[in-house]
Amino acid sequence: MAKYDVKSNNAEEFINHEEILESLDYGREHKNDRKLIKEILEKAKKAHGLSHRDAFVLLSCQEEDLNEEIFSLAKKLKEKFYGNRIVLFAPLYLSNYCVNGCLYCPYHAKNKTIPRRKLSQDEIRKEVIALQDLGHKRLALETGEDPVNNPIDYVLESIKTIYSIKHKNGSIRRVNVNIAATTEENYKKLLDAEIGTYILFQETYNKKNYELLHPTGPKHDYNYHTESMDRAMSAGINDVGCGVLFGLQSYEYEFVGLLMHAEHLEARFNCGPHTISVPRVQPADDIDPNEFDNSLSDEMFEKIVACLRLAVPYTGMIISTRESKKVREKVLDLGISQISGGSKTTVGGYSEDIGDVEGSNQFELADNRTLDEVVDWLLNMDYLPSFCTACYREGRVGKDFMKIVKDHGIGNMCQPNAILTLDEYLTDYASEKTRKDGRALINREIEKIQNPNLRANTKKWLDEIRDGKRDIHV
Ligand code: SF4
Ligand code: SF4
Repeated sequence: MAKYDVKSNNAEEFINHEEILESLDYGREHKNDRKLIKEILEKAKKAHGLSHRDAFVLLSCQEEDLNEEIFSLAKKLKEKFYGNRIVLFAPLYLSNYCVNGCLYCPYHAKNKTIPRRKLSQDEIRKEVIALQDLGHKRLALETGEDPVNNPIDYVLESIKTIYSIKHKNGSIRRVNVNIAATTEENYKKLLDAEIGTYILFQETYNKKNYELLHPTGPKHDYNYHTESMDRAMSAGINDVGCGVLFGLQSYEYEFVGLLMHAEHLEARFNCGPHTISVPRVQPADDIDPNEFDNSLSDEMFEKIVACLRLAVPYTGMIISTRESKKVREKVLDLGISQISGGSKTTVGGYSEDIGDVEGSNQFELADNRTLDEVVDWLLNMDYLPSFCTACYREGRVGKDFMKIVKDHGIGNMCQPNAILTLDEYLTDYASEKTRKDGRALINREIEKIQNPNLRANTKKWLDEIRDGKRDIHV
C-alpha cells in the first residue's frame, strides 16, 4: 500500500487514497464541531491557506451560522487579494482529433458521429483575427490528444502563429495551453514558445474511477497524467493550472485531492498552482451527465468555491461558460478571479458560422452571451473587467508572482492594468452602452488607486490610449 508523502514524485503517494479517505472521515466526524470549525476559521482569516483536512472540515460544516461565516470570509479574502477585478479569456479549439476514450467527452476516439477537424495555420489566423476583433487578449488553447494529427510541433507552430498576428489594434498577449500530459522535453518546448499557464485538468483524483473513465488511449495511465505538473515544473514552467471535472467522482473526494495536489506542488517546487478551475460535467453529443451519479448542487458548488478561496487564497480561480449566468453571478464574489466570455467550444467556431452543428461542441454552453454582453454585465455589477496579461510578460511568474501576491503587492499592478486594458477594450471594440458604462466605472475606479503617482500616471496613460497608444502596463 502506498504511503502518504506530500513531497514524493509518485502520484499514489502525494495523492494518497488512504489519506483522502481518512480526511473525509475526519471532516464528517467534525461537521458539527463548533470549536474546531471556529479555530479553522481563525486560521483562514490570516490568509495563509488551510490544509486539505481543515478545508474539508469547513466544506462538511453543518452549522448554519458558521457556514455564513465561511461565505463571508471567502468574500473578504476575495476582495483583499483580487478586489473587484475579473480577468477575461477565451478558449481556442485547434483540433478535436483524439485517441483517448474519455467517457465524459464527445471527442473520444470511438465517437464516429462528430465531424473531426484540425485547423490549418491559415484557419488559425482567421480564428485569431475573429478573437482579436471581439477584444480578447488572453487565450486558452485546446486540442485533443493525437500524436499523428496534433503532434507537439503542430501546437508549437500554432502558438507562434497566434502570437504573430497583429490585426488592427489587436494582439493576443498570453496563450495558456491546455494539452494532454506530455514529456518533460515537450514541456521545455512549450516554455520556449512562451506559453502563459500550462493547464491540465486531473478530471478525477480517484485512481480506480480514473481508469474506468479513461478505458483506452495514453490518458488511461493515471500516474503519468497525475505527475504531469511535476514534469512541467521540472521543465521550468512556473505557472500551472489544476482542476477537476466535478461530477465524475464524489465532489468530496475531488475537493480533498485537488488541495493535496496544490500542497504537493508547493512542497516540492515552493510554488502552488497558479490557477484552479472548477468545471462541472455538462451534456454533449454522446454524453449524458446523468450517467455520472455524482452531480453537484449549485449550493454545494458555491460552497466548494468559497472553501477553496479560504484554502488557497492567492491562487486564481477560473469558471467557464459551462456554467449559467446565474451560477457565475453567485460565485464571482466568493472567489472566482477569471472567467471566459463569448466562448466557442467548436473547432473553427469564431471565424465561421458553424452554429450548433450536431456534436461539434466539446460541451454545451450554459452562458451563450457575447463578450460585450459579459463585459457590460460585469460592469453593471460593479466588477472591473480586465484584459490584463502583464505579469508573465514582465517575468512575474511562479514563486516570484506568489510572493508578490502574498505580500499584497499585486493589487498595485492589477488595478491600473485592469483600468488600462478595459479602456483599450472600450475604445476599440465595445458597444456604445458598454463604453458608457465602462468609462463611468473607470472614473470611479481610478480614484481608488492609493499611490498618488500611480494614479496620476494611470490618468496620463488613459489619455495616451485614447490617442491611439496600446499595450501600456505596469
Ligand atoms: Fe480527448 Fe480531452 Fe476529450 Fe479526453 S477530454 S476525449 S483527452 S479531448
Ligand atoms: Fe493578472 Fe498580473 Fe495583470 Fe494582476 S497584473 S491581472 S496578476 S497579469
